[in-house]
This record gives sequence, C-alpha cells and structure tokens, in this order.
Amino acid sequence: MTAEPRPAVFLDRDGTLIEERGYPTEPEDIVPVRGVGEALARLAAAGYLRIILTNQSAVARGMLSEEELADLHRDLGDKLAVVGGGFDALYYCPHHPDGIAMGYAVPCHCRKPDTGLLDLALGRHAIDLSRSAFIGDSLRDLFPSVEGVAARILVRTGHPLTDRGPADHVAPSVVEAIDWLLTKRRPTSPRAGARIRARGA
Ligand SMILES: [Mg+2]
Ligand SMILES: [Zn+2]
Repeated sequence: MTAEPRPAVFLDRDGTLIEERGYPTEPEDIVPVRGVGEALARLAAAGYLRIILTNQSAVARGMLSEEELADLHRDLGDKLAVVGGGFDALYYCPHHPDGIAMGYAVPCHCRKPDTGLLDLALGRHAIDLSRSAFIGDSLRDLFPSVEGVAARILVRTGHPLTDRGPADHVAPSVVEAIDWLLTKRRPTSPRAGARIRARGA
C-alpha cells in the first residue's frame, strides 16, 4: 500500500487539547478545552491527520499505570466525540529519569522535545512533514530540532509562556491556533524543500 502522504497536526495533550490539571489520573481531570471538538473536525475536513504526542511522566512517577492511562485516553476520545471531534492517533512517553516506577525511571528518546514519539508517528503514517504543524503550550511541543515543518504554534491555555522560542504564532487556545493554520498558513501545494526551515514570524 502506498498511501499519498498527508499533512498532519501534532498536538500536545495537557494544557492544549485539555485543561492543564497537573498530573491527571482520573476521568474528571480530563476536560476538553472549549471549542476543541469543532476545531479538530475542521482539521479532518481539511485533510489533516490529528496526532497527539504527550509526555506522561505520571507513569514513571508511579501515579498511574499504562492500563489506567489507556482508560484515560479512551475517556478523552469519548469526550471529544461528544463535542464532534476526535483524533487519529496518540503516542505517549511514560518515562522520566527521576521517576520511581520500575522500568520507566530511565532516560529515553521519546520524551519531548526529543523526537522519539514524532519518529514513531512518521513511521506508522504516511505524512508530509513539510505541510505539517506542531501545536502545544510548551516549547518542547514545538520540537525545535526538527526542520522544515509548515508551522509551529504556541497556545496560552497551559503553562505560562515566557519565551515564544521557534513559534511562528501564539494563539489564545488550540481553537484559534487551528483557525490560523487553516486560514493564514495553509500552503496551497507541497513545498519543494522539506529541509527548508519554516520562516520565522
Ligand atoms: Mg502541555
Ligand atoms: Zn520516553
């Protein structure tokens, strides 16, 4: 099967798609940001894959198991479906070098801003990175080491922003971030050079 590469939007979870609640361990901690369902539906209609990449060091910290995390992600999917949205894939890093849980308290290559999760997604889906975007509330969600993406967007719904880093745009929430991507930044055709660094704002 040779699927035509599609653009993707790589979204952070906590403080971006859902409200920032520290280390969520219970379903009541999973609260979608207002308007996110419709925004995710717009992305799908525009042909984008919607891929969540999330650091979940709560696993390494012994606060929840991977099974409990999977339950939370089913709950997230259900809640997004209620508001008309959804996502195509979710990859998480359960590690942290300062954790306590056996097997998870290790250095790894998947904790953002390292690119292990992104590489996993690129290996499993046919993605045109040159037409893709990163959206998150933290600079590490923008994968500063990755060149040639169409856009990097910070949102203000999570941790306080002190530095816009490599961001092309700063939006109040993921809703405005997606609107900006679709109406202001969306390229009309695949870019020739995927290694060309996205133009700074
Ligand atoms: Mg976050
Ligand atoms: Zn990891």
